[in-house]
Amino acid sequence: MESSVPSILIIYTGGTIGMIEDPETGALENFDLAHFRHHVPELRRFNYHIDAITFDPPIDSSDMEPAYWVKMARIVADNYDSYDGFVILHGTDTMSYTASALSFMLENLGKPVIITGSQLPIGQLRTDGKENLLTSIEIAAARDDEGRPMVPEVCIFFENQLLRGNRTTKINAEGFNAFRSHNHPALAQAGIHIKYASHLIRRPDPTRPFKPHFLMDTHVMILTLFPGIREEIVDTLLSIRNLKAIILKTFGSGNAPQKPWLIDKLRQLGERGVVLVNNTQCSKGTVEMQRYKTGLLLLQAGVLNGYDSTLESMVTKLMFLLGHGYDNDTIRRLMNTSIAGEVTVDNSFFSER
Ligand code: ASP
Repeated sequence: MESSVPSILIIYTGGTIGMIEDPETGALENFDLAHFRHHVPELRRFNYHIDAITFDPPIDSSDMEPAYWVKMARIVADNYDSYDGFVILHGTDTMSYTASALSFMLENLGKPVIITGSQLPIGQLRTDGKENLLTSIEIAAARDDEGRPMVPEVCIFFENQLLRGNRTTKINAEGFNAFRSHNHPALAQAGIHIKYASHLIRRPDPTRPFKPHFLMDTHVMILTLFPGIREEIVDTLLSIRNLKAIILKTFGSGNAPQKPWLIDKLRQLGERGVVLVNNTQCSKGTVEMQRYKTGLLLLQAGVLNGYDSTLESMVTKLMFLLGHGYDNDTIRRLMNTSIAGEVTVDNSFFSER
């Protein structure tokens, strides 16, 4: 839309932000978009053109599925040329998965896609939803001195912080500060002014077009290690047909028990073509498999370094890469490459796809 008035498309998928209490049961249920317009009259005060699309029915984000990510990616792609920015209203429970998935699916994104939600429904007196919604719209509309979008990235805005979506994790089931980006600084802070950390914000490659992707392959699983893990549990993995990738949730800097049967079975999975990636159970810091023998054994068994990726970004990146039918070597190479700012690796480069 060529206009000096910013145009924003709100995509309401569901979640607490739009919920209302069922008068009979007291349970929270999803409501529709008219609810927002009623409870946030301030929306009219923006000098923006704002449209909205709503999922019918809206969903609790615990019901999130890759098919819904595809639906969101399609809405953004179909409306890409008509709007300056997009705000996705989403439940907080799986918001980080959605933000991560979209960061891969919307390749070479040149416009803001800001995802937000709230811990209290927007109709409630102390809601955090109003603030989150209004600031997200402002960020989606913000332009720099040259008239370019300030943040052409998939982000989560929550409690005054704008975070790169694929670096986030939900860390709080109650407090208003529900999200953290443990391994990457915030892209902006909202106070009296919104202060952008411009040097950290990714920009699209101007020589290539925006390219949406819609294929995800869910043959992925997570294996959390714990003291006392039994051999038959890992054996079961070997018997799962069509399993294509396993994320190993390891200890500390990427360590595992030195049980020969464990290392052996992991090696066998790798030899069968299953991609194995190391993700630490610590929320902050990075995997360094060379540091201890207990990590080195995993490396020697063919387990890939997951560096400082979040679990959410690793799961969705694997689904994305497998969805493209890449061969094992390409997947392994791209898992160790930052393709959307999701991981800090030494050889980090952007969008070489
Ligand atoms: N269960 C809700 C959801 O994720 C929680 C929320 O919105 O905060 O949809």
